[in-house]
Amino acid sequence: MAAIDGLPSLSQVIRTHDLVAKKQLGQNFLLDLNLTAKIARSAGDLTQCDVLEVGPGPGGLTRGLLAEGARRVLAVEKDARCLPALAEIAAAYPGQLEVVNADALALDVSAYLTPPVRVVANLPYNIGTELLVRWLSPDEWPPFWQSLTLMFQKEVAQRIVAKPGDKAYGRLALLAQWRTDPRIVLTLPPEAFSPAPKVHSAVVHLTRLDAPRFPANAVMLSRITAMAFNQRRKMLRSSLKAMGPDIEARLEAVGIAPTARAEEISLEKFCALSSGYA
Ligand code: SAM
Repeated sequence: MAAIDGLPSLSQVIRTHDLVAKKQLGQNFLLDLNLTAKIARSAGDLTQCDVLEVGPGPGGLTRGLLAEGARRVLAVEKDARCLPALAEIAAAYPGQLEVVNADALALDVSAYLTPPVRVVANLPYNIGTELLVRWLSPDEWPPFWQSLTLMFQKEVAQRIVAKPGDKAYGRLALLAQWRTDPRIVLTLPPEAFSPAPKVHSAVVHLTRLDAPRFPANAVMLSRITAMAFNQRRKMLRSSLKAMGPDIEARLEAVGIAPTARAEEISLEKFCALSSGYA
């Protein structure tokens, strides 16, 4: 029996339901309920929120979220083998846990959630970045969520919080920092998971800003940063050549040396450059 909720331990749940981890589903399970409660706490006050959890698996983080007082949890899981284990948690928290057996990449979650919403997930590594980019790039801002608290490979987490001059600085940092405040709140060794992955992991908490940090043209910002970082060692006057013959003048107009490289340029300057295009 686990201290946080009186349900069976996670190792027992995995044995009972024969949940042998599948690599192709990115299944690396957290077994320590003190740790999952800590991750839930790092997401902030959940008592007034609906929480979207992608990939609950055997339910370790789900139980952490509920034990920390989440108003409601919507858990989207692709692997039907996990459903009986999740049903046991739902029975222990009547009316607070809804489980949907679906591919999170294909499901429109808006119909299931009542604001305010926080997203908390130990994401499958193979779809983690894709989901993050989607959550950061809605047509309208602010998005449906207030914060994202997400587990990534440590290397991806570092790309999200990187600053100009850092090796990890690139498009993901710019996308995340333009409209959110991202922080690494926890790092975890491979042994925290079963089976243990090859890499370290980290939890990133991203708080949405009510409005973008700097004015920018979202389409142009995305296009410019893609070009600039696809050839990150090149000078901007050549990596951005396709933006037109006036690119050097445009760079100079916003205070960027045409000989500078993408990795040195701040978010503010990239935003200013994008704003110059109608
Ligand atoms: N939350 C659990 C934990 O912390 O122990 C499991 C995390 S495990 C890293 C990722 C989970 O995402 C697995 O349960 C896997 O089946 C599920 N998953 C993988 N691809 C998915 C998808 N496209 N949509 C929804 N769930 C998915």
